[in-house]
Amino acid sequence: MHFPEYTFRLDVEEGVGIPQIPVHPIGYNDAEILLRYLGGTAPPDESWKGSLKVNYNIGPGFIGRDSFRKVRMHVHNINKITRIYNVIGTIRGSVEPDRYVILGGHRDSWVFGGIDPTSGASVLQEVVQSFGKLMSRGWRPRRTIIFASWDAEEFGLLGSTEWAEENVKSLQERSVAYINSDSSIEGNYTLRVDCTPLLYQLVYKLTKEISSPDDGFENKSLYESWLEKDPSSENKTLPRINKLGSGSDFEAYFQRLGIASGRVRYTKNRKTDNYSSYPTYHTIYETFELVENFYDPTFKKQLAVAQLRGALVYELADSKIIPFNIQDYAKTLENYATDIYSLSKKYDQQLRDHQVSFDSLFSAVKNFSKSASDFHRRLSQVDLNNPTAVRIMNDQLMFLERAFIDPLGLPGRPFYRHIIFAPSSHNKYAGQSFPGIFDALFDIENKADPRSAWKEVKKHISIAAFTIQAAAGTLKEVLE
Ligand SMILES: [Zn+2]
Repeated sequence: MHFPEYTFRLDVEEGVGIPQIPVHPIGYNDAEILLRYLGGTAPPDESWKGSLKVNYNIGPGFIGRDSFRKVRMHVHNINKITRIYNVIGTIRGSVEPDRYVILGGHRDSWVFGGIDPTSGASVLQEVVQSFGKLMSRGWRPRRTIIFASWDAEEFGLLGSTEWAEENVKSLQERSVAYINSDSSIEGNYTLRVDCTPLLYQLVYKLTKEISSPDDGFENKSLYESWLEKDPSSENKTLPRINKLGSGSDFEAYFQRLGIASGRVRYTKNRKTDNYSSYPTYHTIYETFELVENFYDPTFKKQLAVAQLRGALVYELADSKIIPFNIQDYAKTLENYATDIYSLSKKYDQQLRDHQVSFDSLFSAVKNFSKSASDFHRRLSQVDLNNPTAVRIMNDQLMFLERAFIDPLGLPGRPFYRHIIFAPSSHNKYAGQSFPGIFDALFDIENKADPRSAWKEVKKHISIAAFTIQAAAGTLKEVLE
């Protein structure tokens, strides 16, 4: 077999200025050796640095016995065009077959995939099995459930994105929620949840009903061990829930289409283990033996994750009223608006010089909070025996996440269209709130044309304010 040898290549796209560099991951040992020889300037900030105990430089040049060194890299990849397969299974809803709840996760892996994705792909299979058992007893969900086993996630979320594109019109009209089923463990310390604020209350409720799999938490709930081990930094009485970023198959559904989404898994101790992901991530050492002997010998952590993913799908598909809470979205928007405003305050003088104000954003968030409270008051009084009244409110709940989508997308990233959340421009796995404003402010002190840079900030404050105000409008009583 012929293995092509790749060389690094810089294609600077016109007008964008971002170099497109083919990248191949290397091991820690090789990385450390390379870094020792890499000279030039230091990286611009801490976020560029990894956890190796060497100096991080970004070049140019290599400093060693000679002033320059060349590295020859042999990359043994197979370069071919091949067919990919998504496997889709459905349970038709008994009352609202035109409303979808999706559980999707990938099946392909870089090597053996012991953790990524098999610890999650097996959870998907088990959840399907348990719904099959319910059906054999005559049960049918109120709404349609779609199970998706995605292919080619590792190559760029290909399977899930293709399917989202192929079915875009029905999905944006009919989807209630998307729950991701990638790896169910990346550690064995505590639960990790990343989701839309709409799902916070449902996650709290369900984790209180599931037993904790942790040693020392016998007869306690998953919620109790999670809260004790990883309280939220803003409010110590609640467990931590993160923003959705990307790096897995929920991306097209949440960031592009605005379908309420969530992902849950077991994770490491964030206080002591400061490496990203887990040490064997995507390597040849990710095997079943690693999971069975070290990560989860009793399989209890994976069981807890399976119970939570399954319960989320069950509740979203079968509750008469979609179990979303909009007041949590309102609180979250207040926090994010305060965060981005505080960040901007370090440019206090420029804010005044360029007449940049966040008033419109705060006013929109206030209106949204009021609409959210009014909505939940009406929801608590809705006549549950009136199917039209129930459907009207459910549609408002379902379409709220869609209201945060800007069809024009974020600057330079047309497929990221959610105005409140996006994958961070500096780390695709992490989430960024108010990404448009954040990116416009980023490094603004070094911009060649400060006037147009601050104009861009103002534009993104307007976009965020308009979007939140418009979303609040969708919550009002119809023909008020
Ligand atoms: Zn994965």
